[in-house]
Formats: sequence, C-alpha cells, structure tokens
Amino acid sequence: MSSTTVAEFAAELKKSPDTLLEQLKSAGVAKSAASDSLSETDKQKLLGYLKAAHGTAAAPERKKITLTKKSTSEIKQADASGKARTIQVEVRKKRTFVKREEGGDTAVIEAPEQEAPQPSAPRVDEAELARREEEARRQAELIRRQEEDLAEKRRLREETERREREAEERAVAHAASEDAKREKVQSDQATATKEAGEAQAARAAAHAEARAKADAASKARAEEEAARMTDLADRRKKAEAEAAAIRSMMSTPKKVLVAKKPEEAKPAAKPGDAKPAAKGTLHKPTVTRPGTQAPAPAAPGANKEVKSAKLSSSWASDPSKKKAIPTRGDATGGVGRNSWRGGPRGRRGDRGDHRDDQAQAAPVEQRVIEVHVPETITVAELAHKMSVKASEVIKQLMKLGQMVTINQPLDQDTAMILVEEMGHKALPAALDDPEAFTQEDVSTEAEAKPRAPVVTVMGHVDHGKTSLLDYIRRTKVAAGEAGGITQHIGAYHVDTPRGSITFLDTPGHEAFTAMRARGAQATDIVILVVAADDGVMPQTKEAVKHAKAAGVPIVVAVNKIDKPGANPDRVKQELVGEEVVPEDYGGDSPFVNVSALTGQGVEELLEQVLLQAEVLELKAPVDTMAKGLVVEAQLDKGRGPVATVLVQSGTLKIGDVVLAGQTYGRVRAMLDEDGKAIKDAGPSMPVEIQGLTEVPQAGDEFMVLTDERRAREIATYRAGKFRNTKLAKQQAAKLENMFTDMTAGEVKVVPIIVKSDVQGSQEALSQSLLKLSTEEVKVQLVYAAVGAISESDINLAIASKAIVIGFNVRADAGARKLAENNGIDIRYYNIIYDAVDELKAAMSGMLAPEKREEVIGSAEIRTVFVASKIGTVAGCMVTSGMVTRSSHFRLLRDNVVIYTGEIESLKRLKDDVREVKEGFECGIKLKGYNDIKEGDQLEFFEVKEVARTL
Ligand code: GDP
Repeated sequence: MSSTTVAEFAAELKKSPDTLLEQLKSAGVAKSAASDSLSETDKQKLLGYLKAAHGTAAAPERKKITLTKKSTSEIKQADASGKARTIQVEVRKKRTFVKREEGGDTAVIEAPEQEAPQPSAPRVDEAELARREEEARRQAELIRRQEEDLAEKRRLREETERREREAEERAVAHAASEDAKREKVQSDQATATKEAGEAQAARAAAHAEARAKADAASKARAEEEAARMTDLADRRKKAEAEAAAIRSMMSTPKKVLVAKKPEEAKPAAKPGDAKPAAKGTLHKPTVTRPGTQAPAPAAPGANKEVKSAKLSSSWASDPSKKKAIPTRGDATGGVGRNSWRGGPRGRRGDRGDHRDDQAQAAPVEQRVIEVHVPETITVAELAHKMSVKASEVIKQLMKLGQMVTINQPLDQDTAMILVEEMGHKALPAALDDPEAFTQEDVSTEAEAKPRAPVVTVMGHVDHGKTSLLDYIRRTKVAAGEAGGITQHIGAYHVDTPRGSITFLDTPGHEAFTAMRARGAQATDIVILVVAADDGVMPQTKEAVKHAKAAGVPIVVAVNKIDKPGANPDRVKQELVGEEVVPEDYGGDSPFVNVSALTGQGVEELLEQVLLQAEVLELKAPVDTMAKGLVVEAQLDKGRGPVATVLVQSGTLKIGDVVLAGQTYGRVRAMLDEDGKAIKDAGPSMPVEIQGLTEVPQAGDEFMVLTDERRAREIATYRAGKFRNTKLAKQQAAKLENMFTDMTAGEVKVVPIIVKSDVQGSQEALSQSLLKLSTEEVKVQLVYAAVGAISESDINLAIASKAIVIGFNVRADAGARKLAENNGIDIRYYNIIYDAVDELKAAMSGMLAPEKREEVIGSAEIRTVFVASKIGTVAGCMVTSGMVTRSSHFRLLRDNVVIYTGEIESLKRLKDDVREVKEGFECGIKLKGYNDIKEGDQLEFFEVKEVARTL
C-alpha cells in the first residue's frame, strides 16, 4: 500500500477527515492537517489502537457461535455379496465467528474448520474490515438460518418418520385397523407441520433461544454424525470380515463334495458340518434379493421386518431406524451364525437363515459302511470300498499328514484310522485271507510221541562253538562215511545211546535272534559255550539274555578245559552273576567241563542235553501232515530252490504239497544231513527238500497241504501281501527318514550290499550290521541276497555308492573287473564279527572329527609398535607355555576375551621363528586385528581334530 494523505484515507474509510485526525491523535500519530501524508506505520498504529479500543472492551463478552455447514455425498461400495451399495456420507464444515458488540470496526475471522484468528487480519484496513465483517455477519445469519431450517426440517422428518414407524408397527400388529391407523399418521403429520410453523414463530421471536437451539441441534448432529461414522466403520469392518471369511473359505479344501454325498454326511454333532450344509446356499444368493423373493412361508416376524424396511426409505442413513432391521451382528438378526455367507442386508440374512434351517432340518442320511480293511489296501481300493472318490481319501489323508498317491498301498492301521475318520466302520479284513482256512488242514488227532530236542550252540566268539559242533558232527555223524563229502546243511541230528539230538548248525546268537525275530522258535535247548580260560564275555551275556528271553533252558559247556589256564569255577561264579545257576549251587543249569579239541566231556554234555529234554517232555504228533521251519534255503544251480527244513511235527513225505512262506511246491526229493535220499522225515528231523518253486526265507514256517491249488493261492496271496506291506512300509520309512534327516542335520549313511552263501548267515549278518546304526551314522542295507557277487550287484553298488560285503562268497570275474574299474569296495568275510568290527571302524571314520582346543601358552603385551609397513605389532613376553606361528590366539583385556583369531607372524628379534618358549620376548603380528594395548594378555591355543569312535 502506497503512502496516502489523511484526507484520502478518510475518504476511503468513508469518514470525515476530522474524525480520522482525532482517531489518529488518540492513536499517538501526530497529524494535524488533512493534507498530511499517512505512512504505512501510521495506519498500523491506528489499526492497533482501534483494535485495542474495541477489542479489549469486547473480549470478555465475546460470544462464539459455531455453525456447521453440511454437505452430503454418496459412496458406492460393493458389499460382501458383491452388490454395489450406496452409502450416504454427510460432511459438515465448521465456522467460528467472533462477534463484537459494536458495529463498525469489527474484526471478522473466518476460518473453516479452525477457530484461531488468522494472523493476517491486523493488516486489513478498517473499511475493508468493516465490509468484511458486515458480509460475514450476513453470511453467518444466512447460515444460521439455514442451519435452523435444516435442524427444524430434520426434527420434523424424524418426528414424521417416528410416527410413520409407529403407525406401521401398529398397522402390522393390527392388520384390521390399518386404515384407521394410516389416517392417524396423516393427522400426525399435519400436527407436525403445525408444530413446525410454531417453531418458526418462536425462532423469530427469540433469537438467542433459537441460537441456543441451533447449538443444541448441531451438537446433537455432531453426535449423530459420530454415531453414523462409527456405524459406517462397523459396517465396513463387518464387510471386510465377511470378505476375509469368504476368502478363507475359498482357500480351505472344499467340503462341498463330501457334504453332498449322503452316505458321507457326518452326524450333525461333528465339527465342520455347518459349513458344507450352508455352502450350498452360496450359489444362489440372488433368490433372496428384496422384491424378488419367492413367497416362501416366512415367519411373521420376518415379514414385518421386510415391510417396515420398505416403508422407511431413509433407513439406511438413519442408525436409529436401522436397529429395527436385523443385520448381521445384531443380537436379534441371527445372521452372525453364518456371517460369511449372506450379504449385509438384514432381510437376506433372515431369508438365508430360514433356508438354512430347512437345510439343517432336512434328513441327512448317514450311511455307515462296514469296510473290511486288509493288511494293505491301495487308496483307490479303499475309496471304492467307502463309495467315495479317491481324491476324497487323498484329501483326508493329507489332513492326517500323509501325502499319498491314488495307487499307493496303505497299511492296515492307517487305512482303518482313515475309514473311522470318514465316519465309517473299519474292520480288519479276514474274509479274503485264504490263510484263515489253513488251520483246518492240520489234524491234531494224531497221537503225540516223544521227539528229539533241537539244540542251538551259543557263546562268545572264539570260545569254541564251531569246534564243538565240528567235533560232535565228526564223531557222531560222519562216522562210517569214509571219504564222503560233508556237505553244508544248516542242521543235523546225532544219535546217542540215550537218544537223538538235532543241532541247528548256525552258531552264534545272531542266527538264533534272527530266527526268533521272524517269529520262529526252533530251539528247545541252548548249549552255552564258555571258554574256561576266558570266562564270561559280552556275547556270553547276550546269549544268556536271548536264551532267557526265549524261555529256553541252558546247558553250559565250559570249554577248553584241557588248557592249562582253565578255571571252570570262575566261569561258574561269573555265570551266577548272569543268573545262570549251576545245579551243584542249587540251580537248574547243568555245567559240563568239555574240550572240543580232545573230546573230553562231550558225551556227558550230550547226556545232560538229553536229560534236559526229558524234563521238557518234548512230544510231537507223528502220523499227520508235517509242519516245521525253514532253517535255510538257497538256489542251487542244478537243483533249483533247495531248502533245509526242520520238521517240528508230523511226517514229511516225498510228493507232499508244501507251503513255505510265500512259496510252495511238491517235495520232489528229500536228503538227510549226510546227503542220503530219504522217503520221509519225522519230528525234529532236519532234511533238505527240493521242488519248491522259489527260495523261501530262513525262519519261514512250512506246512503240508492236501491241495496244491490252495497252496498256490495262499503263497501268491502272501507274496502279494508281503510286497504291498513292504511297499507301504518303505513309503512310510521314506517319509520318516526324511524327517530324521531334517532334524538330525547331518546324517551320514553307509549303504551296504550283503551277499552270502546261505540265507541264515545273510540274515544274521544284515541284522548285525544294521544294529551298528547310530544317531549320526546310519547303516542302510541296500540289498541282501544269497549267492555270489555278480555284475548286477556291483552295478547296484555303483548306483547307490554302497560297500559290498561278501560272506563266504566271492565275486565272479566280471563283477571283480567292474568293481575295480569303478572303485567299488568289496570285502570278504567268513566271520560275522569281523564284518561287524570292520564296518564299525569304517563308520567311526565317517564320524565328523571332533575339534578340540588345546591351550599351549600365554603372553603379556609389554609394548605396542606401530610400523608403517606392517601395521601394529605386539611386543610380548611369553609368560607360560609357548607360542607357535600356527597357533590361534585369544586377546584378553582385564580377563575379558575381546578378540579371537590367528597369528600372522611371529618374530624373535628380527627373525621369523616357528615358536617362542616361556620367558622369552617376541613380536607378534595378529591377523586382522590392531587394537591392542599394553597390558593385554594373549592366550594361545591349537585346534586339534580328534577322530571319533562309535
Ligand atoms: P567260535 O568262534 O566260538 O566258533 O570258536 P572256534 O570254534 O572257532 O574256536 C576258536 C579257537 O579256539 C580255535 O582256534 C580252536 O582251535 C580253539 N578251541 C576251541 N575249543 C578248544 C578246546 O576245547 N581246547 C583248546 N585248547 N582250544 C580250543
């Protein structure tokens, strides 16, 4: 603003120059003539004065009127059902006026949404101020009127609506007098209009009162607004919750298919039932759209609700009315139960509920199927048995934490759990098991006659088991067979003057255990061999444990009695510790001093065995079909599958149909332990039979059946069952392994392939080797079989990086070449324990070496040199032990480790040295660390790798 004269300014303000001069004077601006020029500061001074004059006087009485200007808008938003909904939003502006009592020089501060005066106000000149004030006042008045009008209208409308609603409610309740009620509504409306007129008059009469009213109204509106906003927020929240619910529902496996099948529907009590039942309604929400509803026999309450909603058009924007309409979340609304399903409309909720009730009330037939579950069953078969889709079964299994494929066999336990889980009854199948009929074939009528005891020789390695058996065999069996080839047969029997004894020639408790592990109890008596010069050893103890577990009486052979260091009494005492009490100590175990070398005491030993057998009163029927055990079996090049069997009861004859484990056949030829052809074999007789279709397993039970067809059936069934069981187990094992691998971190696996001469040793060896597995190193038996090591074995070893173990077998030329070319390790053994020991050693080598720190010395930093080229060097005094250049160090400051690292260089005087001993000074450069101080301590240590053993 440029400089003006007093006269000009007066004209501008529409005042006389004299009045202005007066005012200027009072403001402290010395102007005497109208022609005097007015500077900007003068004007400011005047303004300040005027403000002070009016403002201070008016301040205490200042009245604040807060008026709110309203604007309405609409928001279109999709609700949970996907339908666009219109939400009315009212935005109100707030203006604050500060009214001065005097007209004229009044400052008006207009501030939307803001009550503080604008800082620029003082700069406005008086005329401008006055003009603005006037305008503002007019505006304020206008707004106030509008507000009042609005408030009035609203009040009226609310009143009308309230009456309408009441009228409607009454109308619904009393349908008969509806017309009369409507008239009343009209009259009510008339009254309302009249009231409005009165209110107008009152407003005109009493301004202040009206203003107060307006204030109250705006307050009420503010509250209303707040309520509405919270309501809107609530609704939005609910919509979001619904959306989330739907999303989660979509992402969870659909149960619809399950629910739709009547035979699968579960009892209502089961969790998760409501969902599938309700989900059906999701497909047709349009049915429930207002106006298009089918005239279903709705509950009267619902009907009324619909009507009232229609009548009150503004229900959506009025929270007070909304209450009348049930929505989700309303206590009365009842949609909340299935809140994910319906839209936000109360009516829909009602209708939905109604249909829901119908759906739930509909008779859900629960057809419980009795499912016979065999030992193994594929997923597809199981699904078929339950009349469901295989995918259903797979889904259910996934829930149980198993990932399966449609053709995967499940074991009986899993399958039964699954069947129960799906609401059916699971029964272990017996119907299709032909073995159920095998019992019939065994006649128990035949008279039981005494039989020879079956004996196994056990004991610690090198205590003379083989020697003893050999001695007995040599003297008793081979006697008279001059030059005859003693062939290997897993069992033989000896005749003594007091009776016969059958020896199972698989020395060692490993074989005994392997046999027992297969559920076959072949042994009647155990001969425990203990070397008199060695005493009770670990395997002696194990043998005792196994014999006791099997409940087999023990006859102790105290061997090597011929040796000068023999001490049979010590053996007795030591065995008492193992609860094998000698007869002369009051126990029940006979002790016989023998020498397998000289044959001393062997007769007595056999006598004692027979004595024990008498006590046991061993008997077996003779004139019946034979039953027994496969002791060992092999595939003979010329003769085909050959099995050594021990007849346990009955008599085995040439031409008998035999079922042995998973194989069967007709006995073509039968040889005794001397290789002599025989026609029949009674109880406790070991014989070698030919004619089986396949090689049975050692420990398999055999029995004679009348019908070859049935034998074949059972064998085939068992084979299939075994394969499936094996498969099921393998798959389960795979998963398990995966988990153990994951948790154990680094699990080293030693894959091995075992080939052996006979089934018995193969089993015994495999089991012993598998037992070596520890937490860190696992033995994995890739393949075990009887026979020479072939090229295919080596190929398998190459593929699986396995070690090949040959027990009493050798690799053929081709296999040897292949192994050499591929660096495959073939190891030959003829003693099980050697194999076990060697593998153990190998596995120890596979254990990650342990790293151990060994403190070798310490030093004190006396001075610190900083050399520009090499960096910081610690001048040290070795205070204990020594320091080597290869050692690691720990830097200690006040006994706190502040750094651990390696030494970069070690110098004595000017020379690099390997080590510095206690009491000498040296210079040490620490690798990658320079922050050293005088007085710091250095501790030196070496990291040593220590090989670990199992
Ligand atoms: P196994 O490992 O228990 O089968 O023991 P062996 O039968 O292989 O015998 C181990 C060693 O002990 C062999 O060198 C035999 O010669 C020796 N031995 C076995 N029995 C006697 C015995 O009664 N007296 C003596 N002096 N040595 C024996």
